[in-house]
Formats: sequence, structure tokens, C-alpha cells
Amino acid sequence: MLTTAEALDAVLAATPSFATARVATADACGRVLRQVVRAERDQPPFDRVMMDGIAFAWSDYNGGLRSFPIQGMQGAGDEIQVLDKGHCIEIMTGAAMPPNADCIVPVEHITVSDGVAEIEAGYEVARDRYLHPQGSDYAKGAYLLRPGKRVSPLDIAIIASCGETEVDVAADPVVRIVSTGNELVPAGAPIKPQQIRMSNGPAIKALLESHGYRRSEHTHVSDDVDALREHLTCQLKEADVLVLSGGVSMGQADFVPQVLAELGVELVFHKVSQRPGKPLWFGKGPRGQLVFALPGNPVSALVCSRQYLIPALAKACGADAAPPEFAVLAARIVFPPQLTCFQPVKLVSNAAGQALAMPVKTNTSGDFASLSATDGYVELPRDQSEFAAGTSVFLHRWIAH
Ligand code: AMP
Ligand code: MG
Repeated sequence: MLTTAEALDAVLAATPSFATARVATADACGRVLRQVVRAERDQPPFDRVMMDGIAFAWSDYNGGLRSFPIQGMQGAGDEIQVLDKGHCIEIMTGAAMPPNADCIVPVEHITVSDGVAEIEAGYEVARDRYLHPQGSDYAKGAYLLRPGKRVSPLDIAIIASCGETEVDVAADPVVRIVSTGNELVPAGAPIKPQQIRMSNGPAIKALLESHGYRRSEHTHVSDDVDALREHLTCQLKEADVLVLSGGVSMGQADFVPQVLAELGVELVFHKVSQRPGKPLWFGKGPRGQLVFALPGNPVSALVCSRQYLIPALAKACGADAAPPEFAVLAARIVFPPQLTCFQPVKLVSNAAGQALAMPVKTNTSGDFASLSATDGYVELPRDQSEFAAGTSVFLHRWIAH
């Protein structure tokens, strides 16, 4: 049986690179960039005024002038005026500084009468104060964003500021999620006492969406070899990534591995030395599709999705590797099995600013209601069975931040 690290390595080694798609800048948030974004112009593109007030020349002020006839007004976006000697120009925040002016006095420190602005008595003028010089943030042609960056709302500002209406990003993969199980009934349909609501599919779809993958669809098939074969044949035609839930354990209705093999999906591994999620099955389809067959237990299905599916999609998109995250255990955990334990936790921070992980007990790996209070799970190595409070451990958040 593979260790969790070996399983993740095997998944990533089998992961292809998705194609590139060109999308409207407005739709790029959450997608992985596939191009550099270079500065269209200097930033700011001109010497930018940062206050409402007047602008004049230091040489006039230094020569003893404190009153200046107002030559004109220059607002944000207005044509650039050239200042006459001994005069001032009224300027607004965001305006371009008149070329031969180099002093700004805010409107709070001047009085205006009869077209003449006078500087408040005692106010000391400093040259170039309240001026945001051209190119001081970055120069034209500077590399502002690089391939591999997942586009954030802040990056949208950069892309838009460079005048780009479209950008190259990794294509959003077609993910097909299939819930297997005769007992499963979707929300909205009548249900019998012995049946259960189908929750894994909607949860995995939402997890994918929260990580930026929007093209998943969820379907259901019963535990019947023929139905499964027919359904998975269709899904494999469409999917870049196929995610199954249920039917991979040792029960008499667990036909998923057999049917996947029949359909030409090559097994990479079955079972990982972990709890929850030990029965995980992973393989590669005939067109190189990634096939994750997850155990049906809701906690197992979600942990396996977060632990293996999400990193595979990130790699296929060419996303920059996320740095490992750590948290400190807030309570002692005892876990005797020789398996890696993925323990769901709630995060709080202590006075020193450390992330503390409070274990949240799940009743069984079917107890998904407890997960709502958790931020993610910690990874406890399998060669140890006791973990003291204060131990630093790997943290995996459900949703990237
Ligand atoms: P299985 O892996 O098919 O043996 O299923 C293990 C347990 O998880 C069973 O109790 C199932 O009823 C439950 N289960 C399987 N699939 C789902 C699902 N899509 N939503 C909620 N529970 C499920
Ligand atoms: Mg089942």
C-alpha cells in the first residue's frame, strides 16, 4: 500500500498539462495565467498630483513669492498646461502636474481672492511634496504578472490597467463527477427510510468551484455492472478528469475498479495508507484522463478530493506550487493505527499569532455534519501514534486562501 506522499507523487506524475484558453479579463479571476503581463506604460504615466490645491514653481517661491495670480485650472484628465512664471495653476487630485511647476500647496492652506491665491502665513512649502512621480511604481515594459499566478481580484486591476481586454489562462478542465450507489437519492426527490441523500457530488462540485474550476457536472448511477459500464463509457468520452464516489471498497456491490479496468482505465494505485480514505483508487484513462474513484463515505470523499484531486488540477493548470502550511495542535491526539491520519480541525490564532488547530471529532467517516465547523485537516504521520499539544503539523485548508 502506498504512503500518502507516494500516492500524491503518483497522481502528480500521471497529471498532464491542460491546454491554454484566451478569456475576457473580466472572466479571468481564479484562473491560472499562461502569459506574462507587462506594463503598457509607466505607472503613474505622468507626474501625478495627489492633492487638490495649487501648483507653482519652486524658483518663484524661493525668490520670496507667497501670492500667485491663478493662470487656470487643471483637473484629472485635462490637457496639460504650461505654467507662466510668477503664476500658479489650480490643480485637482489625479491631474498631470504642469511641466514647469514643482510645488503643490493643498487647498486647505491657501486663500483665494480676486483671482490670486495666497499661501497661509507660516505654511512651509516643500518641493515635490504631494507629487507621485512618473514611473515611480513601475516602468513601461516591467513584468507585472507571470505564468502560474492564479488571478486574484487585485491582478484583474493590473491586467485592466495594462489595457488588456483578454488574457491567456489554463483551460478549465471538464470534470465529471459520478456518484454510485443504489441507496442514493438527490435533494428534491421523495426518499424512503432505507435510502440516503446524495451529498458527495454537490459537495465535490462546490469544492472544485471554490478552487476556480467551474466546468464540473454531477450525475448518478446505480450499483449495476451494465449501467455503470454504459454510464462511465459516456463520461470518459467527455471528461478530462473523472471523479467517482463510492463502490471502490470490498463489498459485493463495489464494481467500480472492475468496470474501470474493462473500459481501459489503467490502474496507478488502489488503497493508500491513510484514514479516512484508505480505499482510494486512482488510474489513467485511454486519452490520459485522470480517474479518481473515491470511497463513498462523505468525510473520506472530501479529504481525498482536497488531498489528491485539487493538487492534480493545480498542476495541470501550471499553477505555482502552494507553499506548505503548518499549524500547531491545540490538543493532544492519539491515533494508534499505522496509517497517516487526516484529522479535521478548526483554526484559531493564539496571542503569538500562531495558527492553532483544534481537532474536531467526526463520529465516523460518514459524519460530514461535523465538517462544517472545520477549516481543513491536519496530516499526522503514520509512524507515530501520539501527538502532543504544541506539535507543529502540516495543515491542508479546504479552501485555498
Ligand atoms: P461505498 O464507498 O459505496 O461503500 O459507500 C460508503 C458509504 O458512503 C455508504 O454509507 C454510502 O451510503 C455513503 N455514500 C456513498 N456515496 C454517497 C454520496 N454520494 N453522498 C452521501 N453518502 C454517500
Ligand atoms: Mg456504495
